[in-house]
Amino acid sequence: MEYGPAPESSEAALNWLKGHGNKFRLYIDGKWQTPVSKKYFESTNPSTKDFLAKIPWGGIKDVDKAVKAAEKALPGWSKTASHVRARYLYAIARHIQKNARLFSVLESLDNGKTIRETRDIDIPLAARHFYHHAGWAQLMDTELPGFQKIGVIGQIIPWNFPLMMLAWKIAPAIAMGNTVVLKPAELTSLTALLFAELCEQIKLPAGVVNIVTGDGETGAALVDHPVINKIAFTGSTEVGRIIRQKTAGTGKKLSLELGGKSPFVVFEDSDLDGVVEGVVDAIWFNQGEVCCAGSRLLVQESIAAKLYKKIKTRMEKLRVGDSMDKATDIGAIVSPTQLKTIETLVKKGIDEGGQMWQPSWACPKDGYFYPPTLFTGVTPSSTISQEEIFGPVLVAMTFRTHQEAVKLANNTRYGLAASIWTENINLALDIAPKIKAGTVWINCTNIFDAASGFGGYRESGFGREGGKEGLYEYVRSIHDDKISNHPVDYKPRSTVRLSSSLQIDRTAKMYIGGKQVRPDGGYSMPVMGPHGQIGEVGEGNRKDLRNAVEAAHSQQTWTAMTGHGRAQVLYYLAENLDARKLEFAQRLISMLGVTPKDAREEVELSIKRIYFYAAMTDKYDGQVHHTIYRNVTLAMPEPIGVMGIVCPNEFPLLGFVSTVLPAIAMGNTTVVVPSENAPLSATDFYQVIETSDVPGGVINIVTGKKDQLTPVLANHYDIDGLWYFGTTEGSKSVEFASAENMKRTWVSPGKFRDWRKDDQGQGAEFLRNSTQIKNIWIPYGA
Ligand code: NDP
Repeated sequence: MEYGPAPESSEAALNWLKGHGNKFRLYIDGKWQTPVSKKYFESTNPSTKDFLAKIPWGGIKDVDKAVKAAEKALPGWSKTASHVRARYLYAIARHIQKNARLFSVLESLDNGKTIRETRDIDIPLAARHFYHHAGWAQLMDTELPGFQKIGVIGQIIPWNFPLMMLAWKIAPAIAMGNTVVLKPAELTSLTALLFAELCEQIKLPAGVVNIVTGDGETGAALVDHPVINKIAFTGSTEVGRIIRQKTAGTGKKLSLELGGKSPFVVFEDSDLDGVVEGVVDAIWFNQGEVCCAGSRLLVQESIAAKLYKKIKTRMEKLRVGDSMDKATDIGAIVSPTQLKTIETLVKKGIDEGGQMWQPSWACPKDGYFYPPTLFTGVTPSSTISQEEIFGPVLVAMTFRTHQEAVKLANNTRYGLAASIWTENINLALDIAPKIKAGTVWINCTNIFDAASGFGGYRESGFGREGGKEGLYEYVRSIHDDKISNHPVDYKPRSTVRLSSSLQIDRTAKMYIGGKQVRPDGGYSMPVMGPHGQIGEVGEGNRKDLRNAVEAAHSQQTWTAMTGHGRAQVLYYLAENLDARKLEFAQRLISMLGVTPKDAREEVELSIKRIYFYAAMTDKYDGQVHHTIYRNVTLAMPEPIGVMGIVCPNEFPLLGFVSTVLPAIAMGNTTVVVPSENAPLSATDFYQVIETSDVPGGVINIVTGKKDQLTPVLANHYDIDGLWYFGTTEGSKSVEFASAENMKRTWVSPGKFRDWRKDDQGQGAEFLRNSTQIKNIWIPYGA
């Protein structure tokens, strides 16, 4: 039986546009303001190409006005009682619900996505986000003690889920006491403007939310504005990279939710009819214009032919057409440019030898439509297997073994999401942690909720939106204000001269893969104490670091070990350091000239700190999120991978322990550059490592000049995370270079911790920076 047309009326939305004379202003400081730029651009309906409205183009001066309004509103808003902030967020949620129909129609007209999806997914999830974060606003004081707002937040969103992305950005930001300037995508500004009207209606204090419409230039002006304390961006990896580079070294916090090429893995025991519906949701939901679209179908070879046949049968029945028709499955592509991108990539897929299949029917001609498309016979390295198409195009490949499935799934520079299909829950839970992605859906796909974090691994960006993990993107520790702009001053005070037995005349080697090795270049550098040279260390180079990274990568057992197992090794480290504490204290005296009391204190604190992280190995655990579906949603902290750590120069033993231990406690392997001027505590530490059952490759140490070694680490493609404790310039270069593979960075521009103090030198902040949260969704129900 054929479906007849079931059009939703667009009258209310068109009347709303008419009520504004089909021309809008910017929403700044609680008022509607004509753009200083005096420029406008047009918004059209991609299903019909009809004109919808003129949208103001915000230039530098408009952005500046908005940022200043947000700055002015900040003190009042951040001091507003949590409960009062909660009430505002609650009122926003209620108003979105009350106006749900208008929002969904407007969204469908503006974006081309189907009314069924805006009505059932986009708008309800936007409201849900404000409800959920009304709760977090209320609970901030009790659930996030020791944290405060960040300040003025610049938020830049894409066109694929306009209101939902706005909600994901604004709700947590204002819940935590920040004020915001949000720039919607040029193609889809309308629901953001309706949202601004709603902020007016609920009397949200002026300047808390400012909406500046515009294009990439407007976004760039926001990124560059010096008053902005954080940028939250969703969009392409290309623009994410530019923003990473621009904000490098500025101290602006950054979260990036970027592209993806997510695997949809089907094992042979799956319920194939369920899989077919899953495929529809994975790649034909929202026209495939979804960052986490399951765009790579990986099928076990034994069932591939059968599944492809079923998928083709289903594709034949999909309906492409007007976004306002309730019987439409796939709406219009957002713009002619995006349509062209899809067509070009599909052509490339064919040129590279892929077999393309499309249903027999033709798409309507009056809008920007593209039919559902399936590619088979493609190789994992072909362009369409690697590039984000952002359209309704599915690329299928086969695998034979479970191991091969994981390899193929991870054969991408991205890591946003994955879905796994099997009736064997043991297999699903074995595979889920092995796939490098921020979200893993088991026997489901493309489901989202405010209670669960969403965000990427690798080039899909960093930071999470939603869940408690997402809140940390919008707060900072109250202890941050105590961190000094100057290194702790410990001028030589000791007059104690060393016994000759501690005057080292040999050159301390590097420590790579569990072995002491000579520096590749054969060069060494002197280590000076207050009374002259006290030793030499190898001067590491690019090759030493490469070897160290390789050793860190080949270490397989550490990450797989249980927290309890890792704790045993860490306690053993503490025990062995304790056994040699006098020797280490002497070393500190020889290098720094500190008093014996200070030296002993540093060693004792180092032992205590190792104990702290040993204790945390099996206690820094995840959560089961209460999402709105019949799901167990596991939020699991996973290690980042191979981490580079450039230690502070100050406190050569304590600084080393305080940075390396949290990273390895969480299961990372490390490449460490110790204090440049006082490296001998780290090189002495080899013996402690060797006697403590730390597997080779977990801690690799390369001594040398920080300025030379840090850029190599920052540029290294196989380093997943990099911590740098040093100068402002060094911090900037680390963040800038990290844009290449989007490695996680943690730097200290112009800031120097007092590592002796627990509130600066240890704690959950170190563990959070050593991990990334993966959310695994497991539906239930008989
Ligand atoms: P962009 O990354 O260009 O756009 C995202 C947002 O950033 C928009 O608001 C855009 O403004 C703005 N922007 C563009 N340039 C800059 C800049 N230099 N500085 C600051 N902000 C900037 O994505 P597109 O919309 O152009 O889409 C291109 C491709 O990106 C798609 O084909 C798709 O592959 C991918 N994409 C991924 C998304 C995701 O969620 N991961 C979402 C959207 C796209 P403007 O309004 O001018 O677009």
